[in-house]
Amino acid sequence: MLTHALQEILHRLENAAQAAGRPVPRLLAVSKTQPADAVATLAGLGQRAFGENYVQEAAAKQASLAHIGLEWHLIGHLQSNKAKEAASRFDWVQTVDRERLVHALAKYREARRSPLNVLIQVNIDDEASKHGCRPDEVAMLAALIAAQSNLMLRGLMVIPSPHADVEARRPAFRRARELFDSLAAAHTHVDTLSMGMSDDLEIAIAEGATLVRVGTALFGARPRKN
Ligand SMILES: *Cc1c(COP(=O)(O)O)cnc(C)c1O
Repeated sequence: MLTHALQEILHRLENAAQAAGRPVPRLLAVSKTQPADAVATLAGLGQRAFGENYVQEAAAKQASLAHIGLEWHLIGHLQSNKAKEAASRFDWVQTVDRERLVHALAKYREARRSPLNVLIQVNIDDEASKHGCRPDEVAMLAALIAAQSNLMLRGLMVIPSPHADVEARRPAFRRARELFDSLAAAHTHVDTLSMGMSDDLEIAIAEGATLVRVGTALFGARPRKN
């Protein structure tokens, strides 16, 4: 099952990239609600990067899979009081959207470790959403992150409003790419634009995603709630 699903997704990524004349993006396997076994199976098939939404849920899986050496991304909203744990447990935090969080992550990422990779989450078109900074706050947050020796600014993450018509999400992806290009022009090491999920990854890739976050299309439907 998982073998087949992984192959299907990798084909979708290749086809979309080829059709758009763009490089094939990285695949982040979103393993929230999935057991450690499923992560281990995908790891055995060569998948390295996994995304989790909750620090606590991730901790249990990371502990039981510590021997494999995976790359863990936090993709869920991060409360400042969980920043310490996030800074030690994850390789990437994709949801940095406010100054306070930058300071907290920088305070707790141990200097002896490699820098924590950081994406700025931008609220690209959903004014009702509480998460993500405004597009006009990106430059300020980027400068603040870049000034921390134990954080590495790698790019942006966006989640467009979930229009039922996926095509309606394209303008948001396009604006995200424009914002990303100006960020990359201003900062070295910026190479990651995280956008696109199971149902809209082709559009995100056409608009320039370099990393897509896929859960359902890999693991099947999650129990309701997430
Ligand atoms: C759950 C989640 C995903 C994966 O979504 P699917 O539709 O299951 O592929 C991607 N990104 C974020 C931020 C998520 O919370």
